Amino acid sequence: MTPAYKRRAMKTPANPVLRSWIDVPADHDFPIQNLPYGVFEDAGGPRVGVAIGDLVFDLSAAHQAGLFDATSLAADNVFARPTLNDFLRRGRAVWTEVRHWVTTLLSADSPTLRDDARTRARVFIPRADVRMRLPVEIGDFTDFYASKDHASNVGSMFRDPANPLTPNWLHMPIGYHGRSSSIFVSGVDVHRPSGQTKADDASVPTFGPSRALDYELEVGVFLGTGNAPGQPIPIEHAADHLFGLVLLNDWSARDIQRWEYVPLGPFLGKSFATSISPWVVTLDALAPFRVPGPAQEPAPLPHLRSPGNWGLDIHLEVHLQTATMREPVRISAVNFRTMYWNLLQMLAHHTSNGTPMRAGDLFGSGTVSGPTPESRGCLLELTWKGAQPLQLPGGESRKFLEDGDTVILKGWCQGSGFRVGFGEVRAKVLPSRES
Ligand code: MN
Repeated sequence: MTPAYKRRAMKTPANPVLRSWIDVPADHDFPIQNLPYGVFEDAGGPRVGVAIGDLVFDLSAAHQAGLFDATSLAADNVFARPTLNDFLRRGRAVWTEVRHWVTTLLSADSPTLRDDARTRARVFIPRADVRMRLPVEIGDFTDFYASKDHASNVGSMFRDPANPLTPNWLHMPIGYHGRSSSIFVSGVDVHRPSGQTKADDASVPTFGPSRALDYELEVGVFLGTGNAPGQPIPIEHAADHLFGLVLLNDWSARDIQRWEYVPLGPFLGKSFATSISPWVVTLDALAPFRVPGPAQEPAPLPHLRSPGNWGLDIHLEVHLQTATMREPVRISAVNFRTMYWNLLQMLAHHTSNGTPMRAGDLFGSGTVSGPTPESRGCLLELTWKGAQPLQLPGGESRKFLEDGDTVILKGWCQGSGFRVGFGEVRAKVLPSRES
């Protein structure tokens, strides 16, 4: 009898979509068109894998089985590591070579693994049987503020509705230096932070648990290769340095942030936690989803002029599940293509003063908000500073997050007959450690 995998759809003239001999439904986040990288762990310790459907393709085991002998990585199993950093340092030519080779191994018409049951048993593991770790040892973390709708909404609330953007905003991607030690992988729950806050009608601040905890829907990008000190990365070369993207939740304590942020920007209201999704979707996998970004007026200075279309058509969603809800509910949706500043502009700006970037550095995009109320990427905007509480099914409402709330971010690019997805980043709000 023909094995099940041989009966599945093959790539033919009538069916031009690339298919794997591993069956992956059309609405699954991880088809052969995606092949995101992650670091997983089981009894065999941490190592690098690629997600395909509900399986992990164990690249370290594949290397040991000789499957990378014909590649430039033959002499060094960079996948037998607890982070992606050594693979990142190899640079774009190697990332592309490995992507092509893994695509070949998993293609429906490629017999190497398809017809070798013994090796298949060594190199594939159900994703349900592994634990995901942070994919990268993150050096520096920079969070940008690249959505015009988000910056305009926040500027309207806290500055001047008639003049919400600061004078610099349209001329460069504004950012701040975050904290890498508190970046956690999806599934690690987050304690409500304590800090110093001051009510408008109080004369002095007090210290205690935040009462205005929020999430921020963002996309993160991992730098694969950096630059030497004093050698800015020209914007035409910026894409060669970007490895891949994850979903990112920039947890924010609005009451702490509001009291501390003048004059030097976000600090303890942000630094307690940032959550990311575990699978890194490569820039190569996202190439079919590049689209024009918004018109930039005034035109950026020459060193920030984007070469080609670098908007990304990524559908993003926020889901919330309170302690009493049986299922999460979607509370907003937005497209990443609405972002004013793109990833290349962020990198070119960041290095324009000669700052060295390193393999494994992470940038956050800033909260992704669109032009409509339903497309706002944080509770601060959705509830307009708490003035319009969010009504939830079952009669609950939220101004900000409560203990026991779980926030889930999802995202995917919709192809024709397939999806390139990010999976999710999920974490629950735990009570303050003081209570
Ligand atoms: Mn942010």
